Amino acid sequence: MPELGPHARAELDALGIAVAYREANSASDLHDESLHPRGAQPYAVARPTDRDDVVALVRWARRHQVGITARGAGTGLSGASEPAEGSLVVCFDQMDRIVEVDLANQVAVVEAGVTLAQLNEHLAPLGLHYPVAPGETSSTLGGNVNTNAGGMRAVRHGVTRHHVLALELVLADGTVVRTGAPVVKLSSGYDLTQLVIGSEGTLALVTEVTVRLTPRPEQRATVLAPFDSLDAVTGAVTRLLRAGLAPSLLEYIDALTMAVLVRETPFTLGLAPERVAATAAYLVLVLETRTAAQLEDDLAACDEILEAAGALDALVLDGRAAEDLIAGRERAFWFAKAAGANDIVDVVVPRAHVARYLEQVAGIAADHHALVTGCGHVGDGNVHLSVFCPDDAVRERLLLELYRAGIALGGAISGEHGLGRDKWAAYLELTDPALLALQRRVKAAFDPEGLLGPGLGRG
Ligand SMILES: Cc1cc2nc3c(=O)[nH]c(=O)nc-3n(C[C@H](O)[C@H](O)[C@H](O)COP(=O)(O)OP(=O)(O)OC[C@H]3O[C@@H](n4cnc5c(N)ncnc54)[C@H](O)[C@@H]3O)c2cc1C
Repeated sequence: MPELGPHARAELDALGIAVAYREANSASDLHDESLHPRGAQPYAVARPTDRDDVVALVRWARRHQVGITARGAGTGLSGASEPAEGSLVVCFDQMDRIVEVDLANQVAVVEAGVTLAQLNEHLAPLGLHYPVAPGETSSTLGGNVNTNAGGMRAVRHGVTRHHVLALELVLADGTVVRTGAPVVKLSSGYDLTQLVIGSEGTLALVTEVTVRLTPRPEQRATVLAPFDSLDAVTGAVTRLLRAGLAPSLLEYIDALTMAVLVRETPFTLGLAPERVAATAAYLVLVLETRTAAQLEDDLAACDEILEAAGALDALVLDGRAAEDLIAGRERAFWFAKAAGANDIVDVVVPRAHVARYLEQVAGIAADHHALVTGCGHVGDGNVHLSVFCPDDAVRERLLLELYRAGIALGGAISGEHGLGRDKWAAYLELTDPALLALQRRVKAAFDPEGLLGPGLGRG
């Protein structure tokens, strides 16, 4: 980044936007939740309050050729919102207005800094919700769009890209464009909404998001089923989905991760010690329906399927236990971090291959004398692995093998956390050069001067 003189600073001050310069930066603005913070110092952190502020900041940055790191709540897990040295951080947390909830069309329009918790709290009395549920509800819609966030409910409701209908964008030269429309179908030109989703702040700054809403389910039951093998868990998932049960959550938790969850949270398993000892992994599923009668039907069908699939048990949890279990599962990342995990991996494979993939993972871990353990969104093939392997060089080779194995099974390096800084080098190594070249041309079309997402390597 170029050295900036007093003139540039005076110009930025004159915009009348809240700006903290290097000496006053708050430490919490300088990293996300990647396990590899790099400690770079941005030139300044700016907090726009509306779209015009964002335009002014982008124009200032372009004039002075300063890179821009967009920031939502900084809960990302791949280092994507960590600033580059000398860059301008544009933090969206003051752009937190819910612009409109259109009840008739079941659509909400929100500023990019609105958090998931805030949106769903606003929608609850209206009988609606935004059903995409990445584990961190303090994350923003702008961040969710840029990571294409998924989470536990993706098996039924899909991920962010399935719910975003339109975006307001500020481009790298300060131009404002609107993509998409608040309609359920659209076939009019290139789908730039979908192109920006998952682009990690490297194509445009998102200032407003229009999302599809869903009625809140009225009936819910949570089932916990222990299995003696991961193969049996995967088999059960296939059977449940083929039966048309459409659970809203379908997670696996391996035995080691469950032991930590039970130790660290109020959740109690309620299983005899012999059964716990015989369990390799647990399947957690949530059924949600409109009526109690339908829930009863679905639970009966589910019980039959789980038994046929070899479940050692099938416990229907009461409300409190269900909440504790799901909340505990959402905290899995913090448990792994506290235990000293050196990396978190979120490889995705076709869901029927999860057991095969995890078998390969065990082999790769053993070859590298590492411990790899975890849980994941088994209903959508997205495993979350905690990697314990302190030697950087060994871990780099191990991670590359984990990614390679996932890709060989038809999957991808990341299902929802994105590439960020942490996984970009591996992506470069494992991706078809022709595809990379095409992506670079897309980046150049949006951001010819390479100002957005400095340090992410996308130019
Ligand atoms: C405990 C925990 C559990 C989690 N569970 C899940 C999970 O289940 N599923 C899942 O998908 N993720 C999960 N995450 C990751 C994280 O919550 C998501 O990646 C989330 O989408 C990040 O949102 P954010 O507002 O924190 O964005 P940030 O981390 O601030 O930014 C993420 C990316 O978006 C860009 N960005 C942010 N706002 C804008 C904007 N307005 N315009 C342009 N670019 C922007 C940033 O530059 C960066 O590239 C979890 C994280 C934690 C800590």
